[in-house]
Amino acid sequence: MRPLNARIRLDHLRHNYQTLKRIHGGKLLAVVKADAYGHGAVRCAHALADLADGFAVASPDEAVALRESGIDNPIVLLEGVFEPEEYDLVARYRLWPAVGSQWQLEALLAREWDEPLTVWLKMDSGMHRAGFFPHHYAAAFTALKQCAGVAEIVKFSHFACADEPENGMTDMQLEAFDLACEGLPGAESLANSAAILGVPAARRDWGRAGIALYGVSPFGGSDERLKPVMRLSTQVFGERVLQPHSPIGYGATFYTSKSTRVGLIACGYADGYPRRASTNTPVAVEGQRSRIIGRVSMDMITVELDPAQDGLGCEVELWGDTVGVNEVAEAAGTIAYELLCNVKRAKFTYSE
Ligand SMILES: *Cc1c(COP(=O)(O)O)cnc(C)c1O
Repeated sequence: MRPLNARIRLDHLRHNYQTLKRIHGGKLLAVVKADAYGHGAVRCAHALADLADGFAVASPDEAVALRESGIDNPIVLLEGVFEPEEYDLVARYRLWPAVGSQWQLEALLAREWDEPLTVWLKMDSGMHRAGFFPHHYAAAFTALKQCAGVAEIVKFSHFACADEPENGMTDMQLEAFDLACEGLPGAESLANSAAILGVPAARRDWGRAGIALYGVSPFGGSDERLKPVMRLSTQVFGERVLQPHSPIGYGATFYTSKSTRVGLIACGYADGYPRRASTNTPVAVEGQRSRIIGRVSMDMITVELDPAQDGLGCEVELWGDTVGVNEVAEAAGTIAYELLCNVKRAKFTYSE
């Protein structure tokens, strides 16, 4: 079998949840949208079910899949519904929809609700993607408050730049949010992973942890408080020794400068490994850091081996414990979120 393995350490996931909840205080949503950032939403949610105050997903479909698998915790729809009819699913599966636009609000108010629901009312405090403008927020809040179908309202907003500690945008958003919420009762939620870790003033009643839950620092680099959940690894299934001045791979973009032992591994861009992370991107061969040489191809990558090493069968970590996914993301000019969400064709196994 093709030896590409994504090991998901559920004990690390639990550790991260508990760590982030302690840092944030109050309650914490475990964000498991996009199949738990590529880690497997159903498995991750069940591993957290006894700890998590709630889960958050990006669509009713994602929420229904969790409910049908037996998850009973609150589930927030971060983007709300995409069409009015989806409020049927909200009612049937007891979901907590975000409301971030006028049509979502009106469709919610126009419906009969057998059981009163919790609504997450989104404010656009400056990111300008979704949510009510600060000067329209109180009116939306009041309309929901007066609706018999609404039991609770959680006031929330999302930061554009929380992963840039020096960026003044976060303070501006905080100020806009607090000003527009003056006099409006109830719970609040502002912090994503970066704000949980880096913006104390954003820690309110509910945190919303995504990337850090999977053990990845939202600031790049690593954070010793977090444990990486996914370890992506494969094996050397071919090797050769090349003479100096030999080209390797598509485009002949890399030439050996010395006699070089080259290992061939089973992973490529069709597995979600970024093609832009070519020569010099770190990998770990049997726990020792080495590097990719040549271009990443669809199904294979060539790595530099220790000249003394018998490479065949050696384990190669693409990211996980020795190589951080943030390092690979940086080499590819992207972010860890994208890499984790893109992993495919790998064999996923789960450890407790
Ligand atoms: C995805 C998402 C989060 C989680 O963000 P991370 O940076 O992964 O922690 C939080 N809030 C909202 C509204 C989101 O869409």
